[in-house]
Amino acid sequence: MTSERTRLRMVERLRGQGIRDAAVLAAMAEVPRHIFVDEALASRAYEDIALPLGFGQTISSPHTVARMSELARNGRALDKVLEIGTGCGYQTAVLARLARQVYSMERIAALVRKVRRNLREAGVANVHLRHGDGHVGMPEVAPFDAIVMTAAAARAPEALLGQLGAGGRMVLPVAGRNGQHLHVIELTAKGLVERRMDPVVFVPLLPGVG
Ligand code: SAH
Repeated sequence: MTSERTRLRMVERLRGQGIRDAAVLAAMAEVPRHIFVDEALASRAYEDIALPLGFGQTISSPHTVARMSELARNGRALDKVLEIGTGCGYQTAVLARLARQVYSMERIAALVRKVRRNLREAGVANVHLRHGDGHVGMPEVAPFDAIVMTAAAARAPEALLGQLGAGGRMVLPVAGRNGQHLHVIELTAKGLVERRMDPVVFVPLLPGVG
């Protein structure tokens, strides 16, 4: 149930759900999702459901991870990517297969320690984890080709938008009056262009560190 065959079935399901980006599908066929899920839940790791990760937080479903990765990538090879809300590190590991370097920020210190172990076990070496408040991002590493935020906010934090490179994209869940939706914000030649996409459910982006 944690085998490659189970993972390939998950990928077939994602294809059926409309995920088209071959690089994203290949990444998800390779990253062992069960490593990032608590042992007690490992048998359900490849089902298309969100799972509890402890600390009141949730691990995004495979479809949500695929969709955010596809929107962030937009068919491009990615150099530097910033992730806000490392959580269990699964989305991080998928992004690490799509980008040269991934920088990921998490406000709960215990999760950062756990993810460091998980990434080592999964053989992922191009990820830089930082314990800190994602609202500020990593100005010293910017600009980023893509920023993926996996916690919901009323709007994209201003500091993060300032860290997008030309043609770069930020993907995030935005909480509005009609619930949450994924938004894509692209830095075009004419400035930032924001589009609302699929309805989603994420835990909120919280202030400060935990
Ligand atoms: N992609 C992750 C999602 C985890 S849930 C996964 O699939 O596992 C959202 C995560 O965002 C939680 O781990 C939470 O602690 C973190 N978070 C919330 N507010 C934050 C902030 N201001 N800065 C950094 N991380 C934050």
